[in-house]
Amino acid sequence: MTTPRDARADGAPPRDDADDAPKEACGVFGIWAPGADVARVSFFALYALQHRGQESAGIATVGESGEVFKHKGMGLVTQVFNEANLAPLVGTHAVAHTRYSTTGSSSLRNAQPYLLHTSAGPLAVAHNGNLVNAAALRAELLGRGVGLVGESDSEVMTQLLAAPAEAALGAAANSWEARLANLMRRCEGAFSVAVLTKGAVYALRDPQGFRPLCIGSIEYEGGAGRGFVVASESSAFGTIGAKFLRDVAPGEIVRLDKDGVTSLTGAVEPRTRALCVFEYVYFARPDSLFEGQMVHQARRRLGRELAREAPADADLVIPVPDSSVAAAIGYAHESGLPYDEGLMKNRYIGRTFIQPSEELRRAGVRLKFNPLRHNLDGKRIVLIDDSIVRGHTSKKIVELLREAGVREIHLRVSSPPVRHPCFMGVDIPTHDELIGWRLSVEEIRDHLGCDSLAYLSHDGMMRAVREGARGPGGHCTACFSGLYPLALPEHMPDEQGGLA
Ligand code: SF4
Repeated sequence: MTTPRDARADGAPPRDDADDAPKEACGVFGIWAPGADVARVSFFALYALQHRGQESAGIATVGESGEVFKHKGMGLVTQVFNEANLAPLVGTHAVAHTRYSTTGSSSLRNAQPYLLHTSAGPLAVAHNGNLVNAAALRAELLGRGVGLVGESDSEVMTQLLAAPAEAALGAAANSWEARLANLMRRCEGAFSVAVLTKGAVYALRDPQGFRPLCIGSIEYEGGAGRGFVVASESSAFGTIGAKFLRDVAPGEIVRLDKDGVTSLTGAVEPRTRALCVFEYVYFARPDSLFEGQMVHQARRRLGRELAREAPADADLVIPVPDSSVAAAIGYAHESGLPYDEGLMKNRYIGRTFIQPSEELRRAGVRLKFNPLRHNLDGKRIVLIDDSIVRGHTSKKIVELLREAGVREIHLRVSSPPVRHPCFMGVDIPTHDELIGWRLSVEEIRDHLGCDSLAYLSHDGMMRAVREGARGPGGHCTACFSGLYPLALPEHMPDEQGGLA
């Protein structure tokens, strides 16, 4: 796997050096709803999943007679789509995708959904995750004479579906169910996928369930029509008026078609579950549901645990907005300290095609955060952040707060130090780039320039996450613990941990 964070292809929006938060790999969506405007619904679902990827977006639809329509482009969902390019995307069902690249450069050829015409009919694929055996699968495909135009794992999955090895499927080669079961068996790593075929939308989730995926129902035409949807996060359902039904189970293949929702299991033996705990800590929208609990509730408990483990003598609790708000509320409740806002975030700075000038680039984090001086002047604050990856942003925020007159800064982090890279779909960089790997907690405090620094313990984090979760549980914590819940191929240079 490569993590070409700095590789900018022509037309790609620049990545924001001031923002060193880890990036999610993608958001996926699928809908079966004959009679509904499936492209428009997909657009609004992608809009709700924008936080999972801001580099490219795309929608593919299948019309009543089986013809396929697609549009994709670089940039935010609202930069890619407009009335003119949505109108031709007619159909009864659709898949959609918003991307942040963890493998493959940020360019249009790697934008999704991938669309191919196969011996079993049209195929479009939208994928969230990373395969740890992508290099071997890529070599196999090339060895069989299958051409690849991009570098992403998602294209490898699409080609494995489009052109499975004959021997693997035999007489069942024209069955999408057989092809998907074969894909499930061949791929190792993280994959939550929405697949568009002529007669159905399929959703599948890897056997360990690294990345989330859920199913909902949707009514339209004043209740006369009923369809089904799948999405990376349930927060997308609220935006489009759909109702959450359940999570797609790890190892499950789900078919959405004229017969409703059909569950196909048994393609692989059950494995240790490993839902990414970073989804709770940072990535997911707080209004999303995982394992029967709202992410916001779990984040508040992370803050409560943090207050118990690492109290501070201070006047005020403030969050690094937006992802640390819930944890800061939890910390304030538990500690009895007042909660207030101390930093205003420009939520629209995000990814832009307009390059900041050199002077503005040097301003870095100031483009994104502005301190509320009147709330801060002369105060001793507890600053709550959800995680520290490289430390660049945290250092600049501490400087901003000092300039705003803050007397003491007690930084509290609602997760343990990030010490290991991620190979399962999140852009957490190499060991050398991780401040938690290179420096001790006291060295980090000194580097950031705060008065005290404390992280939540691994046990505290897992108590907070598990307390409200329903079901069998099982989480990946590898970037904190180094315990990877799957075997990593030897060529992955940064693997340091054992197996969980
Ligand atoms: S290594 Fe970290 S970011 Fe990656 S899947 Fe595991 S918990 Fe999530």
